[in-house]
Amino acid sequence: MAEEIRFDGRVAVVTGAGGGLGRAHSLLLASRGAKVVINDLGGTFDGTGADKTPAEKVCDEIRAQGGEAVPNYSSVATWEGAQEIIKTAVDNFGKIDILINNAGILRDKSMLKMEIEDWDKVMKVHLYGTFYCTKAAFPIMRENSYGRIVSTASAAGIYGNFGQTNYGAAKMGIAGLTNTVKLEGAKYNIKANTIVPIAGTRLTATVMPPQVVEKLKPEYVSPVVAYLCSEQCELTGAICTAGAGYFSRAAIVEGPGVFFDDPDNVTPDDIVAKLSEITSLEGAKEYDSANAQTAYALSHLKFE
Ligand code: NAD
Repeated sequence: MAEEIRFDGRVAVVTGAGGGLGRAHSLLLASRGAKVVINDLGGTFDGTGADKTPAEKVCDEIRAQGGEAVPNYSSVATWEGAQEIIKTAVDNFGKIDILINNAGILRDKSMLKMEIEDWDKVMKVHLYGTFYCTKAAFPIMRENSYGRIVSTASAAGIYGNFGQTNYGAAKMGIAGLTNTVKLEGAKYNIKANTIVPIAGTRLTATVMPPQVVEKLKPEYVSPVVAYLCSEQCELTGAICTAGAGYFSRAAIVEGPGVFFDDPDNVTPDDIVAKLSEITSLEGAKEYDSANAQTAYALSHLKFE
Protein backbone atom coordinates (compact mmCIF):
# COMPACT_ATOMS: atom_id res chain seq x y z
CA MET A 1 0.00 0.00 0.00
CA ALA A 2 1.42 3.41 -1.00
CA GLU A 3 2.21 5.90 1.72
CA GLU A 4 -0.71 8.15 2.67
CA ILE A 5 -0.60 11.55 1.02
CA ARG A 6 0.28 14.22 3.61
CA PHE A 7 1.13 17.90 3.43
CA ASP A 8 3.00 18.36 6.72
CA GLY A 9 5.41 21.27 6.40
CA ARG A 10 3.80 22.36 3.13
CA VAL A 11 2.29 25.79 2.51
CA ALA A 12 -0.65 26.14 0.14
CA VAL A 13 -2.46 29.11 -1.37
CA VAL A 14 -5.99 28.49 -2.62
CA THR A 15 -7.64 31.34 -4.51
CA GLY A 16 -11.40 31.77 -4.35
CA ALA A 17 -11.39 29.46 -1.32
CA GLY A 18 -14.30 31.09 0.51
CA GLY A 19 -16.84 28.60 -0.87
CA GLY A 20 -17.50 25.86 -3.41
CA LEU A 21 -14.55 23.94 -4.79
CA GLY A 22 -11.83 26.14 -3.25
CA ARG A 23 -13.22 25.60 0.24
CA ALA A 24 -13.39 21.82 -0.29
CA HIS A 25 -9.78 21.64 -1.60
CA SER A 26 -8.57 23.79 1.33
CA LEU A 27 -10.28 21.68 3.99
CA LEU A 28 -8.81 18.49 2.54
CA LEU A 29 -5.25 19.87 2.30
CA ALA A 30 -5.45 21.36 5.82
CA SER A 31 -6.81 18.08 7.24
CA ARG A 32 -3.62 16.42 5.95
CA GLY A 33 -1.23 18.93 7.47
CA ALA A 34 -0.95 21.83 4.99
CA LYS A 35 -0.87 25.43 6.20
CA VAL A 36 -3.28 27.23 3.94
CA VAL A 37 -3.85 30.79 2.77
CA ILE A 38 -7.58 31.13 2.17
CA ASN A 39 -7.92 33.79 -0.47
CA ASP A 40 -11.33 35.14 -1.40
CA LEU A 41 -12.52 38.52 -2.53
CA GLY A 42 -16.02 37.55 -1.48
CA GLY A 43 -17.91 39.20 -4.33
CA THR A 44 -21.05 38.04 -6.12
CA PHE A 45 -20.90 35.23 -8.68
CA ASP A 46 -20.65 37.80 -11.50
CA GLY A 47 -17.75 39.63 -9.91
CA THR A 48 -19.19 42.64 -8.13
CA GLY A 49 -18.70 43.67 -4.49
CA ALA A 50 -16.40 42.31 -1.80
CA ASP A 51 -16.90 40.60 1.57
CA LYS A 52 -14.39 39.23 4.07
CA THR A 53 -16.83 36.78 5.65
CA PRO A 54 -16.41 33.77 3.28
CA ALA A 55 -12.59 33.59 3.69
CA GLU A 56 -12.84 34.14 7.45
CA LYS A 57 -15.44 31.39 7.83
CA VAL A 58 -13.31 28.83 6.00
CA CYS A 59 -10.30 29.74 8.18
CA ASP A 60 -12.50 29.19 11.26
CA GLU A 61 -13.58 25.79 9.92
CA ILE A 62 -9.96 24.76 9.36
CA ARG A 63 -8.88 25.92 12.82
CA ALA A 64 -11.87 24.10 14.36
CA GLN A 65 -10.58 20.84 12.83
CA GLY A 66 -7.10 21.55 14.26
CA GLY A 67 -5.50 22.96 11.12
CA GLU A 68 -3.68 26.19 10.28
CA ALA A 69 -5.07 28.85 7.95
CA VAL A 70 -4.89 32.60 7.33
CA PRO A 71 -7.28 34.64 5.23
CA ASN A 72 -6.48 37.00 2.38
CA TYR A 73 -9.09 39.18 0.69
CA SER A 74 -7.22 40.49 -2.37
CA SER A 75 -8.45 40.10 -5.91
CA VAL A 76 -6.55 37.72 -8.16
CA ALA A 77 -7.52 39.98 -11.06
CA THR A 78 -4.75 42.53 -10.44
CA TRP A 79 -0.98 42.01 -10.33
CA GLU A 80 -0.81 43.90 -7.02
CA GLY A 81 -3.56 41.70 -5.55
CA ALA A 82 -1.83 38.50 -6.66
CA GLN A 83 1.46 39.61 -5.12
CA GLU A 84 -0.32 40.32 -1.83
CA ILE A 85 -1.88 36.85 -1.88
CA ILE A 86 1.48 35.12 -2.28
CA LYS A 87 3.09 37.53 0.24
CA THR A 88 0.48 36.45 2.79
CA ALA A 89 1.85 32.90 2.50
CA VAL A 90 5.47 34.02 2.80
CA ASP A 91 4.81 36.44 5.70
CA ASN A 92 2.81 33.93 7.71
CA PHE A 93 4.32 30.58 6.78
CA GLY A 94 7.72 31.42 5.19
CA LYS A 95 7.14 30.08 1.64
CA ILE A 96 4.67 28.70 -0.88
CA ASP A 97 4.76 25.08 -2.06
CA ILE A 98 1.28 24.68 -3.53
CA LEU A 99 -0.86 27.07 -5.56
CA ILE A 100 -4.42 26.22 -6.47
CA ASN A 101 -5.76 28.75 -9.00
CA ASN A 102 -9.48 28.42 -8.45
CA ALA A 103 -11.11 31.88 -8.13
CA GLY A 104 -13.83 32.39 -10.68
CA ILE A 105 -16.84 34.35 -11.83
CA LEU A 106 -19.38 33.98 -14.62
CA ARG A 107 -20.85 36.47 -17.07
CA ASP A 108 -22.65 34.22 -19.52
CA LYS A 109 -24.06 35.84 -22.63
CA SER A 110 -24.32 34.82 -26.27
CA MET A 111 -21.82 36.40 -28.66
CA LEU A 112 -24.50 38.80 -29.91
CA LYS A 113 -25.31 40.09 -26.42
CA MET A 114 -21.90 39.97 -24.78
CA GLU A 115 -20.65 43.36 -23.64
CA ILE A 116 -16.93 44.07 -23.87
CA GLU A 117 -16.91 44.45 -20.07
CA ASP A 118 -18.30 40.91 -19.66
CA TRP A 119 -15.41 39.60 -21.74
CA ASP A 120 -12.78 41.69 -19.95
CA LYS A 121 -13.96 40.88 -16.40
CA VAL A 122 -14.04 37.13 -17.01
CA MET A 123 -10.60 37.20 -18.68
CA LYS A 124 -9.21 39.24 -15.79
CA VAL A 125 -10.35 36.88 -13.03
CA HIS A 126 -9.71 33.54 -14.73
CA LEU A 127 -6.84 33.93 -17.19
CA TYR A 128 -5.03 36.98 -15.82
CA GLY A 129 -5.69 35.85 -12.23
CA THR A 130 -4.10 32.47 -12.96
CA PHE A 131 -1.13 34.12 -14.70
CA TYR A 132 -0.62 36.75 -11.97
CA CYS A 133 -0.74 34.28 -9.06
CA THR A 134 1.47 31.79 -10.90
CA LYS A 135 3.98 34.52 -11.77
CA ALA A 136 4.08 35.73 -8.14
CA ALA A 137 4.56 32.19 -6.78
CA PHE A 138 6.99 30.88 -9.39
CA PRO A 139 10.26 32.54 -8.22
CA ILE A 140 9.72 31.26 -4.66
CA MET A 141 8.98 27.75 -5.89
CA ARG A 142 12.05 27.85 -8.12
CA GLU A 143 14.20 29.02 -5.21
CA ASN A 144 12.97 26.07 -3.12
CA SER A 145 13.10 23.59 -6.03
CA TYR A 146 9.56 22.56 -5.24
CA GLY A 147 6.16 23.58 -6.54
CA ARG A 148 2.76 22.16 -7.30
CA ILE A 149 0.40 24.35 -9.32
CA VAL A 150 -3.15 23.23 -10.02
CA SER A 151 -5.24 25.55 -12.16
CA THR A 152 -8.94 25.29 -12.82
CA ALA A 153 -10.23 25.02 -16.37
CA SER A 154 -13.65 23.90 -17.53
CA ALA A 155 -15.38 21.64 -20.03
CA ALA A 156 -16.76 24.91 -21.44
CA GLY A 157 -13.21 25.70 -22.52
CA ILE A 158 -12.02 22.36 -23.77
CA TYR A 159 -15.29 21.42 -25.47
CA GLY A 160 -17.39 24.64 -25.74
CA ASN A 161 -20.62 25.81 -24.17
CA PHE A 162 -23.31 28.10 -25.54
CA GLY A 163 -23.12 31.61 -24.04
CA GLN A 164 -19.59 31.22 -22.69
CA THR A 165 -17.17 32.64 -25.27
CA ASN A 166 -15.52 34.70 -22.53
CA TYR A 167 -15.34 31.93 -19.94
CA GLY A 168 -14.45 29.20 -22.45
CA ALA A 169 -11.61 31.23 -23.96
CA ALA A 170 -10.22 32.08 -20.52
CA LYS A 171 -10.44 28.44 -19.38
CA MET A 172 -8.75 27.06 -22.50
CA GLY A 173 -6.17 29.81 -22.07
CA ILE A 174 -5.45 28.42 -18.60
CA ALA A 175 -4.75 25.00 -20.11
CA GLY A 176 -2.42 26.67 -22.64
CA LEU A 177 -0.64 28.63 -19.93
CA THR A 178 -0.16 25.42 -17.96
CA ASN A 179 1.40 23.68 -20.98
CA THR A 180 4.25 26.18 -20.84
CA VAL A 181 4.51 26.47 -17.04
CA LYS A 182 5.01 22.69 -17.11
CA LEU A 183 8.06 23.11 -19.37
CA GLU A 184 9.52 26.10 -17.54
CA GLY A 185 9.04 24.44 -14.14
CA ALA A 186 10.35 20.98 -15.01
CA LYS A 187 13.96 21.73 -14.02
CA TYR A 188 12.90 22.99 -10.59
CA ASN A 189 10.53 20.19 -9.58
CA ILE A 190 7.56 22.46 -10.26
CA LYS A 191 4.62 20.47 -11.62
CA ALA A 192 1.68 22.25 -13.21
CA ASN A 193 -1.62 20.59 -14.00
CA THR A 194 -5.17 21.59 -14.90
CA ILE A 195 -8.43 20.31 -13.52
CA VAL A 196 -11.79 20.30 -15.20
CA PRO A 197 -14.33 19.97 -12.39
CA ILE A 198 -18.05 19.30 -12.31
CA ALA A 199 -19.61 20.40 -9.03
CA GLY A 200 -22.77 21.81 -7.55
CA THR A 201 -21.78 25.29 -6.36
CA ARG A 202 -23.23 28.76 -6.57
CA LEU A 203 -21.76 29.03 -10.07
CA THR A 204 -23.68 26.01 -11.32
CA ALA A 205 -26.78 26.35 -9.09
CA THR A 206 -28.24 28.76 -11.65
CA VAL A 207 -28.10 26.22 -14.48
CA MET A 208 -28.58 22.87 -12.70
CA PRO A 209 -31.70 21.55 -10.94
CA PRO A 210 -31.30 21.39 -7.11
CA GLN A 211 -31.39 17.55 -6.98
CA VAL A 212 -28.42 17.43 -9.39
CA VAL A 213 -26.50 20.13 -7.49
CA GLU A 214 -26.89 18.05 -4.32
CA LYS A 215 -25.31 14.97 -5.92
CA LEU A 216 -22.30 16.93 -7.20
CA LYS A 217 -20.52 17.76 -3.97
CA PRO A 218 -17.38 19.92 -4.52
CA GLU A 219 -15.63 17.50 -2.11
CA TYR A 220 -15.85 14.83 -4.83
CA VAL A 221 -13.36 16.79 -6.97
CA SER A 222 -10.81 17.44 -4.21
CA PRO A 223 -9.07 13.99 -4.02
CA VAL A 224 -7.48 14.39 -7.47
CA VAL A 225 -6.59 18.01 -6.70
CA ALA A 226 -4.86 16.87 -3.49
CA TYR A 227 -2.97 14.20 -5.47
CA LEU A 228 -1.82 16.82 -8.00
CA CYS A 229 -0.63 18.99 -5.05
CA SER A 230 1.32 16.16 -3.45
CA GLU A 231 4.97 15.12 -3.42
CA GLN A 232 3.78 11.82 -4.91
CA CYS A 233 2.36 13.54 -8.01
CA GLU A 234 3.87 12.10 -11.17
CA LEU A 235 1.82 14.14 -13.60
CA THR A 236 2.65 17.47 -15.15
CA GLY A 237 0.79 19.21 -17.95
CA ALA A 238 -2.19 16.90 -17.48
CA ILE A 239 -5.82 17.94 -17.72
CA CYS A 240 -7.72 15.93 -15.12
CA THR A 241 -11.51 15.84 -15.20
CA ALA A 242 -13.47 15.07 -12.04
CA GLY A 243 -16.93 15.18 -10.52
CA ALA A 244 -19.59 12.99 -8.87
CA GLY A 245 -17.12 10.13 -8.40
CA TYR A 246 -15.90 10.31 -12.01
CA PHE A 247 -12.18 10.80 -12.62
CA SER A 248 -10.48 10.90 -16.02
CA ARG A 249 -7.92 12.71 -18.15
CA ALA A 250 -8.54 14.85 -21.21
CA ALA A 251 -5.84 15.55 -23.79
CA ILE A 252 -5.16 17.31 -27.04
CA VAL A 253 -4.09 14.74 -29.57
CA GLU A 254 -3.03 14.96 -33.20
CA GLY A 255 -3.56 12.37 -35.88
CA PRO A 256 -0.66 10.99 -37.97
CA GLY A 257 -1.80 13.15 -40.89
CA VAL A 258 -0.65 13.15 -44.47
CA PHE A 259 2.69 14.28 -45.91
CA PHE A 260 2.80 15.69 -49.43
CA ASP A 261 6.28 15.42 -50.96
CA ASP A 262 5.86 18.50 -53.11
CA PRO A 263 4.21 21.27 -50.98
CA ASP A 264 4.57 23.77 -53.87
CA ASN A 265 1.93 21.87 -55.79
CA VAL A 266 -0.68 21.08 -53.14
CA THR A 267 -4.09 22.44 -54.18
CA PRO A 268 -7.33 22.87 -52.19
CA ASP A 269 -8.68 19.93 -54.24
CA ASP A 270 -5.86 17.71 -52.93
CA ILE A 271 -7.06 18.58 -49.41
CA VAL A 272 -10.60 17.45 -50.30
CA ALA A 273 -9.27 14.27 -51.86
CA LYS A 274 -7.29 13.39 -48.72
CA LEU A 275 -9.64 14.90 -46.13
CA SER A 276 -10.52 11.67 -44.36
CA GLU A 277 -6.82 10.77 -43.94
CA ILE A 278 -5.90 14.34 -42.90
CA THR A 279 -8.62 14.46 -40.23
CA SER A 280 -8.35 10.86 -39.04
CA LEU A 281 -7.43 10.44 -35.39
CA GLU A 282 -6.53 6.79 -35.78
CA GLY A 283 -3.08 6.42 -34.28
CA ALA A 284 -3.30 9.96 -32.81
CA LYS A 285 -0.62 11.05 -30.37
CA GLU A 286 -0.10 13.60 -27.62
CA TYR A 287 2.93 15.88 -27.87
CA ASP A 288 4.62 17.14 -24.73
CA SER A 289 5.79 20.39 -26.34
CA ALA A 290 5.40 22.51 -29.48
CA ASN A 291 8.93 21.45 -30.45
CA ALA A 292 7.94 17.78 -30.41
CA GLN A 293 4.92 18.46 -32.64
CA THR A 294 6.95 20.58 -35.06
CA ALA A 295 9.65 17.92 -35.25
CA TYR A 296 7.02 15.40 -36.38
CA ALA A 297 5.45 17.81 -38.88
CA LEU A 298 8.87 18.42 -40.44
CA SER A 299 10.09 14.83 -40.18
CA HIS A 300 9.75 14.20 -43.93
CA LEU A 301 11.99 17.14 -44.89
CA LYS A 302 15.53 16.47 -46.00
CA PHE A 303 18.15 19.08 -45.22
CA GLU A 304 21.56 19.12 -46.90
P1 NAD B 1 -17.79 29.54 -6.36
O1 NAD B 1 -18.47 30.78 -6.83
O2 NAD B 1 -18.34 28.85 -5.16
O3 NAD B 1 -16.25 29.82 -6.08
C1 NAD B 1 -15.51 30.83 -6.71
C2 NAD B 1 -14.90 31.71 -5.64
O4 NAD B 1 -14.00 32.64 -6.24
C3 NAD B 1 -15.94 32.54 -4.89
O5 NAD B 1 -15.86 32.27 -3.50
C4 NAD B 1 -15.58 33.97 -5.23
O6 NAD B 1 -15.82 34.90 -4.17
C5 NAD B 1 -14.11 33.87 -5.56
N1 NAD B 1 -13.64 34.95 -6.42
C6 NAD B 1 -14.26 35.47 -7.51
N2 NAD B 1 -13.53 36.46 -8.04
C7 NAD B 1 -12.42 36.57 -7.28
C8 NAD B 1 -11.26 37.40 -7.34
N3 NAD B 1 -11.14 38.34 -8.30
N4 NAD B 1 -10.29 37.24 -6.43
C9 NAD B 1 -10.40 36.30 -5.44
N5 NAD B 1 -11.50 35.49 -5.32
C10 NAD B 1 -12.48 35.62 -6.24
O7 NAD B 1 -17.78 28.56 -7.61
P2 NAD B 1 -17.01 27.17 -7.89
O8 NAD B 1 -17.89 26.39 -8.77
O9 NAD B 1 -16.51 26.56 -6.63
O10 NAD B 1 -15.80 27.67 -8.81
C11 NAD B 1 -14.44 27.41 -8.54
C12 NAD B 1 -13.69 27.31 -9.86
O11 NAD B 1 -14.08 26.13 -10.56
C13 NAD B 1 -13.93 28.47 -10.83
O12 NAD B 1 -12.72 28.81 -11.48
C14 NAD B 1 -14.90 27.89 -11.80
O13 NAD B 1 -14.88 28.56 -13.05
C15 NAD B 1 -14.39 26.47 -11.89
N6 NAD B 1 -15.33 25.50 -12.44
C16 NAD B 1 -16.40 25.10 -11.72
C17 NAD B 1 -17.25 24.14 -12.26
C18 NAD B 1 -18.42 23.63 -11.49
O14 NAD B 1 -19.06 22.68 -11.99
N7 NAD B 1 -18.73 24.17 -10.32
C19 NAD B 1 -17.01 23.62 -13.54
C20 NAD B 1 -15.91 24.04 -14.23
C21 NAD B 1 -15.06 24.98 -13.67
